[in-house]
Amino acid sequence: MTFRSSIFRKFLAGSFLLISVTILVLDFYLGRSTSQRQAESIQQRLEGQARVLAGEIESVSPGELVQWSQGAGARAGARVTVIDPRGVVKADSEHDIESMENHSHRPEILEARRMKMGTSIRHSKTLDRDLCYVAILVDYHGQPDYVLRLALPIEDLDAAIAAVRWQILEASLAAALAALVIAYYFSYVFTRRINRLQAFAERLAGAQFANDPLPGEDDELGALGQSLNRTSTQLHELVNRLSLESTRRESILASMMEGVLAVDDEMRVTFCNQSFSRAVSCRFPVPERLPLLELVREPELFDILNQVLATGQSLKQRLELSGPSNRSLEIQAAPLASTARPGVIAILHDITDLERLERVRKDFVANVSHELRTPLTAIRGYAETLLDGALEDHKNNRRFLEIIKAHAIRLNNISADLLVLSELESRKSQAEPERFLVSAVLESALRTVEAEAQIRGVHLHFEKLDDVHVMGDRMRLEQVLVNLLDNAVKFNRPGGEVRVAIGQTGDGSAQIVIADTGIGIPSEDLPRIFERFYRVDKTRSREVGGTGLGLSIVKHVVERMNGTIRVESALGQGSRFIVQFSAV
Ligand code: ADP
Repeated sequence: MTFRSSIFRKFLAGSFLLISVTILVLDFYLGRSTSQRQAESIQQRLEGQARVLAGEIESVSPGELVQWSQGAGARAGARVTVIDPRGVVKADSEHDIESMENHSHRPEILEARRMKMGTSIRHSKTLDRDLCYVAILVDYHGQPDYVLRLALPIEDLDAAIAAVRWQILEASLAAALAALVIAYYFSYVFTRRINRLQAFAERLAGAQFANDPLPGEDDELGALGQSLNRTSTQLHELVNRLSLESTRRESILASMMEGVLAVDDEMRVTFCNQSFSRAVSCRFPVPERLPLLELVREPELFDILNQVLATGQSLKQRLELSGPSNRSLEIQAAPLASTARPGVIAILHDITDLERLERVRKDFVANVSHELRTPLTAIRGYAETLLDGALEDHKNNRRFLEIIKAHAIRLNNISADLLVLSELESRKSQAEPERFLVSAVLESALRTVEAEAQIRGVHLHFEKLDDVHVMGDRMRLEQVLVNLLDNAVKFNRPGGEVRVAIGQTGDGSAQIVIADTGIGIPSEDLPRIFERFYRVDKTRSREVGGTGLGLSIVKHVVERMNGTIRVESALGQGSRFIVQFSAV
């Protein structure tokens, strides 16, 4: 705190103003009362002396009057004047009566004529100074209405007032000094307290909630401090609540699978979550108030948002995203009217997988009917042919029956595979997982396909690099390996090879590789071969007795055992199926 402090200057100015006003008022009243008192005492003195002199004047002859007035003036210490009833000055202790004008209109004379005594304080032209006059009516040698007037200069009065003024000034100087000290002290104390309040309030504005509350002193500043303390506590709670809310909201939105996008009426992004960024392939986090156009260029999306903004009605619509991802989205957009600016919030639901699943389901039903129709039509056709007389045809009847049997077997295979699939999907009849060695299961699977391999002239090689244990359903794993080996043999050529290897990967997982030198799989078909009924070459698959369900069973079982399967293939050179399970 310095002497330049504004509070100090204001305190000082206030004190000085108060002192100045007090001086002026005191000066006015004390001056007036002092001069009044002085004038009254002079008047009383002059009146007393006038009465004494009035007793003497009777005995003074007119010729001695001037002389007497001088003597009386010396004794009374005042100017003595005698005026006759016409106003002519008959004697004056200090002046030559010849040069003096008629005095009948002097105020004290007029007053004395009316009231027997008159007083006046005024400037005497004759003496050129302020005088206090007292006049009384006297009888002179039997003649009434003579006036005896005594006058005294009032210099004494001025001196008295000056003395009073001097005292006031001294007292005021002392008061001003005291005011300076008091102003300094109070402004020092107040400035310190106000600075503390200011620092506290600034910390509040910066959301810094200190642990040291303001002291509660018993005055207005203390009350202000208390209310700031309360505000701080409440603000702290509010900020905590809001940040908790926002963390909750952030984590809910971040963990949502659906994309969430909020835009204002200028189509600027006010909020979006990670799923939205992923769906439209843009970086995250998105800077606030970024124009949406810089993120997405989907006219359809803009149409939907604009429509919601214009109508204020919610909207639900399907949207096909252009671009390489080619995703299908379902958008649910609603107006955001409660915020300061109008806007739209949109929830984007990625329905690409749903649509694909729906397609797969429909295809599956169509495929099942189709797969069943072929053998059923064949069985019915050959049965009717036999009934229509071919039964007697000894050359063909056996062949027809064999065809019927082959189709019946095919029907049986399809229904068996479908049954396995539905069991896997419904997760029923799940055997207790057991720990077993992969080599034992693989050897058993190899024995199953051995005969078929021999017929097709395909050589089987088994390479046991490292035997490993896995956990799961042994029977199902054997089925997986039989399916894979069966495909490797079926989609091969005479003289071709199938190489099987078990080993361990770097991270300790069990790995089974079944590689063949067969016909291979075109790269565009690779992602689909695990789908139900998907076959690259339908005729060939049918010829070799395939149902198109083998690989989907394989995938199901492997995933059930928390394993993975992948395929590498080169058309015309062969395929490699790699199955991995975490070792136990
Ligand atoms: P399928 O009963 O026809 O064998 P799968 O589901 O087992 O049905 O196989 C699906 C399709 O994948 C087969 O029809 C075939 O076209 C292809 N495929 C599977 N394994 C091989 C392989 N080792 N070599 C070449 N093509 C294969």
